[in-house]
Amino acid sequence: MFEFSKPCLECAFRLDSAVLRVTGQAQVRQRGREVLVFEVRLVEAGRWCASCGAQGSARGSRSRLLTHCPCGSRPVRLLIRLRCFTCGDCGHYWSEQVSDVLAAPHSKLTRVAVNWALVSVVLDGMSINAAARNLGA
Ligand SMILES: [Zn+2]
Repeated sequence: MFEFSKPCLECAFRLDSAVLRVTGQAQVRQRGREVLVFEVRLVEAGRWCASCGAQGSARGSRSRLLTHCPCGSRPVRLLIRLRCFTCGDCGHYWSEQVSDVLAAPHSKLTRVAVNWALVSVVLDGMSINAAARNLGA
């Protein structure tokens, strides 16, 4: 009846597994609520210099925290680790970027979270305050 495969967090949380990989999970309390935090990394390292095409050297990482669609009544956050690089040939410095497919530039919500909020408010008749509360925003 069912053909089971290996469980996949990326599939369960509607993340593109060709682009992102969930590498960790934590539960934290924020404002009296349990929040599920997933540590996420990009599958393909953007290690090639856009200026000269040489391979960059890793120089640590930075993080971007995004609100994702809730898991039941639990808010979900994606902590995206973005690797930083410098070019040994031309000195250019850059870091990996979050894809526009995952989140709009400077947005604190993933596109899946925005879609979830729109469906909740427009189709399901949820109040904007209730949608924001469920997102933990
Ligand atoms: Zn370069």
